[in-house]
Amino acid sequence: MTRYVISLIRGDGIGPEQTAAAKKILEAISDNTSTKFTINEVEAGDAALAKHGKALPEFSVDTIKNSQACLKGPVGESAADVIIVLRRMFDLYANVRPAKSYPNIPALSPKVDMVTVRENTEDVYLGWEFNADPGTVVALRITSEKASRRIAEYAFKTATMRDSKRKVVAVHKANVMRKGDGLFASVCREVAKKYPRIQYSELYVDAASMNLIRNPEEFDVIVTTNLFGDILSDEAAQVVGGLGMGPAANIGEGFALFEPVHGAAFDIAGKNAANPSSILLSAKMMLEWLADRHKDRKAAEQGARIEEAIVGLLKQDKKTKDIGGKLSTTEFTDLVAKELF
Ligand code: ATP
Ligand code: MG
Repeated sequence: MTRYVISLIRGDGIGPEQTAAAKKILEAISDNTSTKFTINEVEAGDAALAKHGKALPEFSVDTIKNSQACLKGPVGESAADVIIVLRRMFDLYANVRPAKSYPNIPALSPKVDMVTVRENTEDVYLGWEFNADPGTVVALRITSEKASRRIAEYAFKTATMRDSKRKVVAVHKANVMRKGDGLFASVCREVAKKYPRIQYSELYVDAASMNLIRNPEEFDVIVTTNLFGDILSDEAAQVVGGLGMGPAANIGEGFALFEPVHGAAFDIAGKNAANPSSILLSAKMMLEWLADRHKDRKAAEQGARIEEAIVGLLKQDKKTKDIGGKLSTTEFTDLVAKELF
């Protein structure tokens, strides 16, 4: 038996409904298998700000620090005060976003199965913008060898763990940003040499965004810098039919946080209409990460089963409203639990 301590940020908007779904599925796994969870709920986001005057109160940080991984619902207005702080606090350097076509969900191709590995700590996201004079802004774009190597290593490791195409493409714009992206590209090339079984190539970001529409099934692992990764991963999510199915991971050396790609979706909050798949697939990624870290094959199996259960339902055209179905959040979640056990 293995027990994992998970912190669960409920979030805002559809967050509480999604995290309730995730909790239900993790508890079902706890009740029926030797993979057990202690789930500690964490207050963070708009609700915490209103109640405690801080979007990420100290006691919430403590609960997260005392957990092995964090599963997070989407946060509303105060999203940046939660996720950016946590990314820095735990040095969550890799932002990992799979995009996959699923049965009975319209996609540009039925065979898309790719993942974007986005550098999560530097580039223009450090926010170093200055006025050179009142009418001119200088924005700094930071690229370090250390961060480039770390993300490249993570991308190649990801490619070896995926049983599919075994390809890594580094996306950059080194023909324009010769020094910064030149450094990123040369580090990716170096790391590629250590992985002879992985097919390595490079694309300029303009060509990559075009190919993502033209031949999405060709992609396996994209490794790229922060801004390009932000844009390309949203594009990839749309290629496979939108946000409600999209999970994401923020990975560090010793800690990781998993969350849906989308925001709080206030328009459908409290209506039992949210698609819980994005957070359930995030939970699957969390189980894979824990499994890898703790050499715990059983945890990975439980993660895989969550996805199989969702796929099984989609094949029967059982789905939520956002993807053309009729089921509510709780109806879909109950069916996932039933498929599992
Ligand atoms: P935020 O301001 O936090 O980004 P948002 O209201 O812009 O939140 P997004 O998460 O960006 O919402 O999503 C845009 C729209 O997509 C939502 O308004 C909602 O209608 C739909 N949507 C997003 N996620 C889901 C989901 N899990 N299930 C159903 N619909 C969703
Ligand atoms: Mg939004």
